[in-house]
Amino acid sequence: MLLCLRIADIYYVACARLRNTPARPRYAPMNPVFTARHPTEAHLVRGLLEAGGIRAEVRGDQLYSAFGELPVLPTVWIVDPADGPEAGRLIGDFLRGSAARRYAHERWTCAGCGETLEGQFTDCWNCGAPRAQPA
Ligand SMILES: [Zn+2]
Repeated sequence: MLLCLRIADIYYVACARLRNTPARPRYAPMNPVFTARHPTEAHLVRGLLEAGGIRAEVRGDQLYSAFGELPVLPTVWIVDPADGPEAGRLIGDFLRGSAARRYAHERWTCAGCGETLEGQFTDCWNCGAPRAQPA
């Protein structure tokens, strides 16, 4: 009798857990914010978000390279759902090309070798030094 009650107990708890299971696992409460056309674009967007102080990661880029022709598109996920609105704004800017316009004509001079570089480069193509952050 006691054993039956115990089993009923376990069954009840298991059912309750199943009913309350969130759509996404609790251990990874991350939100997809962008589906890219290819891994390069996904990593570009991730870098854009991280430059804006938003922690993000790319998922599915390995699948993309593994399957090639199959429509497995890489996605960009943000770690903190509270960053959603800002991420949306940055990605919107990116899709409209304003980020590209903002940096395209902003030439910079490499601190490592003195080379003059176009604004879209984040590292010196000549010596590999990263672009100095504006003070
Ligand atoms: Zn350089």
